[in-house]
Amino acid sequence: MLRGYVHVYTGNGKGKTTAAFGLAMRAVGQGLRVAVVQFMKGIEYGEVIAAKRLGIEVYQFGTKEFVDPKSPREIDIKLANDAIKKAEEIVFSRKYDLVILDEINVAMSFGLISVKRVIDLIEKKPENVELVLTGRYAPEEIVERADLVTEMREIKHYFRVGVTARKGIEF
Ligand code: ATP
Ligand code: MG
Repeated sequence: MLRGYVHVYTGNGKGKTTAAFGLAMRAVGQGLRVAVVQFMKGIEYGEVIAAKRLGIEVYQFGTKEFVDPKSPREIDIKLANDAIKKAEEIVFSRKYDLVILDEINVAMSFGLISVKRVIDLIEKKPENVELVLTGRYAPEEIVERADLVTEMREIKHYFRVGVTARKGIEF
């Protein structure tokens, strides 16, 4: 087994979740075992439908509504904690080579889960597991412990001229 590293895809530009699913597709193509845990997501995204077809396991924890960072609901906190628990089970099961924790950075920054718990996961994970953490606002302590950090920076986004989310492109 090769050594696994920790990636962080953060920043305010588009492409973090889709980059992670692109990596998942590459990995499964080469026979790696891949699982994705999504925080704060409860809708059927195109990438989730496609990933499942390719044999990538995807576990979603979230409602259909947005989480209000100023006053998250009890259910938002519960689901985020269920998600980190599932992530821990998956990582320590040794059944997966690549584990993607989608929007986990946002869950930490909104205070739904503790940064400490994610640091523990990074520090105690089995050597071979490659871990990917996506989402805006990655906490500094996480960035410090990652081996690869990419910031998607918005230079232009058509949202600014009124283009709203489109099926197959944004979801
Ligand atoms: P994608 O899922 O397209 O890879 P992302 O994961 O980088 O994007 P998030 O920060 O998770 O983006 O944002 C969630 C939603 O907002 C997605 O539908 C995404 O396409 C869209 N989005 C991303 N960046 C921007 C932006 N700068 N302005 C407006 N909407 C954005
Ligand atoms: Mg995303």
